[in-house]
Amino acid sequence: MEVVIEGTVFKIESKDYYVFDESGKEFRCSLKGRFQKEFSLKKDKLYAVDIACVGDKVEFDLNKDGSGVIKQIKPRKNYISRKAPRLKGAGVRGERLEQIIASNLDNVIIVSSCDQPKFNNRLIDRILVAAESSHVQPVIVINKIDLDKKHNYKLWVQLYKSLGYGVLESSVVEKIGVINLKKILEGKTNLVCGQSGVGKSSLLNSLYPVLNLKVGTISNYTSKGTHTTVTSVMKKVDVNTFIIDTPGIREMDPYGIKKEDLSHYFRDLSEYLNECKFNTCTHYHEPGCGVVEALKQGKISKERYQSYLNLLETIEEDLFFS
Ligand code: GDP
Ligand code: ZN
Repeated sequence: MEVVIEGTVFKIESKDYYVFDESGKEFRCSLKGRFQKEFSLKKDKLYAVDIACVGDKVEFDLNKDGSGVIKQIKPRKNYISRKAPRLKGAGVRGERLEQIIASNLDNVIIVSSCDQPKFNNRLIDRILVAAESSHVQPVIVINKIDLDKKHNYKLWVQLYKSLGYGVLESSVVEKIGVINLKKILEGKTNLVCGQSGVGKSSLLNSLYPVLNLKVGTISNYTSKGTHTTVTSVMKKVDVNTFIIDTPGIREMDPYGIKKEDLSHYFRDLSEYLNECKFNTCTHYHEPGCGVVEALKQGKISKERYQSYLNLLETIEEDLFFS
């Protein structure tokens, strides 16, 4: 009799899908041929998505040698994806593929730092848009507060809190805020992302030494534009707590968001959409725009509006391909 096992994909390396079952036992699986066929079809149309991704709940058959064959991928509760880094040969403008980073998430932890590297609110806003459009709860962590003696970062804390986001201030060096982070992670499946060097690994190691992540290593990203094989990896750190580390993810271009929908994922902008004269308004150059009016009146942060415009521009560049 065939043995069918249920599990969760925690790592993908080329064609190997690593899965753990409920007890934590690990299996190396391949995908049943049917999926491969669907995949190549999608690839031709340049809509290629990863067939299975980290976080997917799957059913697999066990081979005699202990490896498995995935025969079913369960529907995803949610997933976060981005435009894949440019592939070799994909020279045409806008020719971008979707890369699913992870699925079935409870939290997206967006880690940034006050300094070294410089605070990057553009990236935070990009990840917020990805989280909002995927219906995953975002939490912002502002790390390395020990490096900001003047507490300039407090302005950002205020801004994001005023939008209703959870914001945590931390310093691994001074052991501030780390325990609060643990409370947020516990019992959840957490995708942890942010620019390289902000202290993701340091934060996670201090909470879960078992992770043993490499700290302060120089980026293994070769030259710009090349395709790295480093993908996200999920690790179980506690009975019901999972951490998905994203070492290869340094940029985030949300995928599949239409120009006219973008403002819905900016909480502060979306309040004023009803006041725009045209319902196709992109809140940029159109007359009678409620968002621009709110901006003029200081009701919307200039920084947030600039992030919106930057994303709008990225989407327009890809119009060809929508
Ligand atoms: P990651 O690339 O986001 O995983 O960042 P790492 O955890 O590798 O940290 C990058 C560098 O920042 C390392 O040299 C860490 O020791 C340092 N670092 C991490 N957290 C803090 C912090 O709270 N304060 C200061 N001053 N340095 C930190
Ligand atoms: Zn408008």
